Amino acid sequence: MITASIPVVMPTYARADIAFERGEGAWLWSADGRRYLDFASGVAVTALGHCHPALVAALREQAGKLWHCSNLYRVPGQERVAKRLVAASFADTVFFCNSGAESLECAIKMVRKYHDENGQPNRYRVICATGAFHGRTLATIAAGGQEKHLKGFEPMVEGFDHVPFGNINALRSAITAEAAAILVEPVQGEGGIVPGDPDYLRRLRAAADEFGILLVFDEVQTGMGRTGRLFAHQHGGVSPDIMTLAKGLGGGFPVGACLATAEAAKGMTAGTHGSTFGGNPLAMAAAEAVLDVMEQPGFLDGVDHIATVLREGVERVCARYPEAIAEVRGLGLMLGLKAKIPNTDLVARLMANGLLTVGAGDNVVRLLPPLVIGEEEVAEALALLDRTLSQGMP
Ligand SMILES: *Cc1c(COP(=O)(O)O)cnc(C)c1O
Repeated sequence: MITASIPVVMPTYARADIAFERGEGAWLWSADGRRYLDFASGVAVTALGHCHPALVAALREQAGKLWHCSNLYRVPGQERVAKRLVAASFADTVFFCNSGAESLECAIKMVRKYHDENGQPNRYRVICATGAFHGRTLATIAAGGQEKHLKGFEPMVEGFDHVPFGNINALRSAITAEAAAILVEPVQGEGGIVPGDPDYLRRLRAAADEFGILLVFDEVQTGMGRTGRLFAHQHGGVSPDIMTLAKGLGGGFPVGACLATAEAAKGMTAGTHGSTFGGNPLAMAAAEAVLDVMEQPGFLDGVDHIATVLREGVERVCARYPEAIAEVRGLGLMLGLKAKIPNTDLVARLMANGLLTVGAGDNVVRLLPPLVIGEEEVAEALALLDRTLSQGMP
């Protein structure tokens, strides 16, 4: 008999051999007692750092009252969080789910349903950008269009077209009679921190209006203060019809949301979509506590300020090592270092020196610190970056 050997945890990740035990603010402690400065934030998730007192208190309180009751009943926390997200955005209504990919699934279904309601069920194609990332479900790997994510999982979900990110002419040429929506990240994250030009985002809005299709912004990574505004598209003053959120929304608790205008969501009636766990009382307590902190006067200005300090510092350090770093790019606290050495090597060397970062496409190393970092932590990160780059590359 042949027995296949496989780790008990399915080996779908290339994990670093390190386990964390405890976190506080921007710091993490590994099981062997070492301290790390966390500029990964669990991939842009722990927006308020680890164990923020307001989040801990909110979750403790809710944990003693009610965890879950399903969407068979009203969930007052959903009503409160939705009201605040609507007040802070272009949207009129919110669907709650548990992850980024699920928020995209809701957006994609809503786009199809919208045109079906309009008597145009033939309009179902979503125009996406090359280098995009929208999640790992069957529909979202098709939306991402990345060969490395699709390979072996064919047949691919039908209805997604890809045009180069940032090229408005290519996008307009891709709008056919079957087009239903445009879907982009305002700043491509996994693709390598590629900010969309505000003028490009405005032209996407104009194209969507001209052809009667919906504009969807995937703000799963860029949303919830990451770029110094609550939502990244607010930098350019252009609003989508639908927006997806997740990562920072629960500050580490799994929660996603799909926001939409009343018009875009007009087909989403009872029975059309659902989730067992989506928006349960614990998740809503976390999201509400995150909003409490982020909506305090001056919070986002603080993010803007510290982002400028970090950006200037990172540019200053990287300019000293042109053989290792080709470019620094990004928006707010979403920075990318385009490396000339393999980004995986740089991430490993930074980690060995105590600074956690995240790799991305286009050989980029991402800096995604918690939004609550201070100048001292920025100085410490710059010192670690400088030390790592000065150690010379193999
Ligand atoms: C992370 C991410 C997703 C997927 O989120 P999951 O929670 O992993 O499903 C989707 N879109 C963007 C832009 C992301 O960064």
